[in-house]
Amino acid sequence: MAKTLTEKILSMKTGLEVKPGDIVVSPVDWALVQDTTGPLTVREFLSLGLPKLANPTHTILFIDHAAPSPQKQLSCDHTFLRKFAKDYGAVLSDVGEGVCHQIMAEKYARPGDVIVGADSHTVTAGGLGAFATGMGSSDVAAAFGLGKTWFRVPETYFIRLTGKLQRHVTAKDVILHLIGMIGADGATYKSLEFGGPGAAAMPVTDRLTIANMAVEAGAKVGLFPSDDATLEYLTQQGRSQDHIRLFADEDAVYERVIDIDLAALEPTVARPHTVDNTAAVGELKGIKVDQVFIGTCTNGRLEDLKLAADILRGKRRNPATRLLVAPASPRVMLAGMRMGYIQDLVQAGATILPPGCAGCLGVHQGVLGDGETCLSTANRNFLGRMGNPEGLIYLASTPTAAASAVTGVITDPREV
Ligand code: SF4
Repeated sequence: MAKTLTEKILSMKTGLEVKPGDIVVSPVDWALVQDTTGPLTVREFLSLGLPKLANPTHTILFIDHAAPSPQKQLSCDHTFLRKFAKDYGAVLSDVGEGVCHQIMAEKYARPGDVIVGADSHTVTAGGLGAFATGMGSSDVAAAFGLGKTWFRVPETYFIRLTGKLQRHVTAKDVILHLIGMIGADGATYKSLEFGGPGAAAMPVTDRLTIANMAVEAGAKVGLFPSDDATLEYLTQQGRSQDHIRLFADEDAVYERVIDIDLAALEPTVARPHTVDNTAAVGELKGIKVDQVFIGTCTNGRLEDLKLAADILRGKRRNPATRLLVAPASPRVMLAGMRMGYIQDLVQAGATILPPGCAGCLGVHQGVLGDGETCLSTANRNFLGRMGNPEGLIYLASTPTAAASAVTGVITDPREV
């Protein structure tokens, strides 16, 4: 039977001919937690009474969300995770070692893998052709101990991308456009699979941005095929041996097909307080911005540093607008330094933060004041997300964020 990517991966893993709606038990290649969900997951695992982890070297504990720790309680959580990793032989990715989903892409995730994480943006690895999804702490604890988990095989929406993006329109605009079109619950528990010539021409870094936000439409996974671009990315990470080619069958059956012409897209912004509350940047031009934040697992990659530097080079941020930049990993930060992007950004008035989640989740490094507005390249703008329910968060691409840092108001990057 012809298969979607999801059906292909879950069939390969389980040895069954799976179809949508089936309940399957699948081996898990990687299980991960981060420092806000990790302590609960570890306690759940310990309560199971299992003597050891099923696969310690594929069990990863990331300390990235509140890193370095801004308060005593979180410091104690970090200590707890470090001790568990040492005692049970799990992999620890400590303070300064980067955002979990970026590190999964750089070091661990492989096409065809099944990955579960106690973090909703685990879906990011779908950009590499991995069936990667977020789960609750109890489910991830069970995967820690058993090395497997259960899924209901999702139905699939095929997102066919055609055409070519205009200058200063990016993958972030593609996914914001899609979420605005179908809504925050428009793909609940579906697999979103991206294909067509527009997807084939996209580098993996763009695919990671799109897969990252699949969950903002409620999707279980966001998947791209594994092709030559995937091989190129894995080769750049020194992991060409991890590559396999993986495509949906030509005659796979989809529940819904959505066509997007990339050439027709505009820079897109999500207004407070939901990701699907989108508008073309032109409709929001002129809204005052107190803080611009460039970073996160969505847009904290080297390509983002370049896009921002290309706009900010030789300019200064508006004096009334703070500019925070958090590279998603040390590898990104070092490359950004080698290429001169970090220097350009500092000279433009940016504050460079350590590799990690920074202000994304609102515990430190950029908490908003009452009535303040942030234009962020992150993936969520829920009420209170950046630490203050009196703050307003707009989501946009890196070029839109960089252009707005220059002017101090929401700005169309094509006009700077
Ligand atoms: Fe979550 Fe933000 Fe960290 Fe990504 S960068 S893992 S969205 S807190």
